[in-house]
Amino acid sequence: MSGESAVILGAGQTGAYAAMALRDAGWSGRVVMIGDEPHAPYDRPPLSKAMLTEEPPPAPVAFHDPAKVAERGIELRLGTRAEGIDRAAGRVRLHGGEAVAYDRLLIATGGRARRLGLPGGERVLTVRTLEDAAAIRAQLRPGARVVCIGAGVIGLEIASSARARGAEVTVVEAGPGCMGRSLTPEFAAWIERLHRRSGVSFEFGAAISEITGDTVVTATARHAADVVIAGIGIVRNTESAAEAGLAVENGVLVNEYAATADPAVFAAGDVAAFFHPFYGRVLRLEAWRHAQNHGIAAGRAMAGDAKPYDDLPWFWTDQHGVNLQLAGLVDAAVTTVHRGDPESASFAAFHLDAEGRVVAATGINAPREVRAAQALIPLARPVDAAALANPATNLQRLVADLRKAG
Ligand code: NAP
Repeated sequence: MSGESAVILGAGQTGAYAAMALRDAGWSGRVVMIGDEPHAPYDRPPLSKAMLTEEPPPAPVAFHDPAKVAERGIELRLGTRAEGIDRAAGRVRLHGGEAVAYDRLLIATGGRARRLGLPGGERVLTVRTLEDAAAIRAQLRPGARVVCIGAGVIGLEIASSARARGAEVTVVEAGPGCMGRSLTPEFAAWIERLHRRSGVSFEFGAAISEITGDTVVTATARHAADVVIAGIGIVRNTESAAEAGLAVENGVLVNEYAATADPAVFAAGDVAAFFHPFYGRVLRLEAWRHAQNHGIAAGRAMAGDAKPYDDLPWFWTDQHGVNLQLAGLVDAAVTTVHRGDPESASFAAFHLDAEGRVVAATGINAPREVRAAQALIPLARPVDAAALANPATNLQRLVADLRKAG
């Protein structure tokens, strides 16, 4: 293995953790990480939150101390764009003509912010990089009129940050409510109320026709805008994988070991469409913990220590001082069991399927309950709904008892 080369395409969170995992799993050959941003891999959650609100803005947080990266022999090729993958020759072609040979390749190229393809779309800001966050921060002044396009996590976190900076905020969303991809209608409405109470206006079901110098024009309204920021999802960076003949289904297709059909090529993180053994189907996840843990699983698999990756979907978001967490997938749920009062500052909901099994949980300032759900979901056993709902029930004990009954 010591003469071999592992190349990681993409120097984001997934790539950073994959590189360390390769070493942890005993890979003694070269590890080369190639990224087009000029920065060593850094944490992105602050880009839509603390980097917009704190004074002064916090310094970027690198995932790994540069000394540790050097000590572990991880070569960083930053500010370097890969132009293609030559699988027959086992090489990655870089912009400028250089080629880097690989014995194992990880595609961890993530995604880029989707852009609005309509008149005026070029003046719309998006959020993915440190530079994007700095450009938005510079616009968030008291009284500035901010229009956020998209009521997903980005649009709503920016709306919250912009209000914290004293801006006037309108969110313009194509769908019928907030965070429609992930939340139940009840929580979507809860989050909408939170924003409205904090002074944010909404237009739902909006069809934008044009963005002029100072207005976002929809089919039914005109929203004055000094700054327009879109959070309308990502486009996965799958082009080089597709050109290299790898299977791409709105994501580079991999199995539960992060492996493509080519034994030398792996994919992980936002860019991957991966088989999830617990759900028995292909998932595409775009979340912080997944980026990290899928990268670790891929790095270990590349070093020959493959284990099925079955991490559960989980994400958090902070908006107007409220922490919302969601674990699992709500689409199989038929009922919801509340624990705590939805009018209070802290409550949770367990989402159950037709057999009474917990398939997901949403928590408002309730991380402990969401953590318990992450233990309950993989047990896949019917749970006593009354016990779940009772705040006096010790959830850890409930989990332990179910495990014992196993
Ligand atoms: P997102 O969560 O997919 O939300 C995009 C929203 O924009 C959807 O509600 C979508 O509505 C709407 N939309 C799409 N096209 C539109 C249009 N032309 N006009 C108006 N609305 C439109 O994506 P995101 O918020 O941009 O986030 C980008 C990425 O960053 C994701 O990968 C996300 O997971 C990640 N991220 C995560 C966190 C976190 O975990 N806290 C925070 C920030 C970002 P439809 O659903 O109806 O299309």
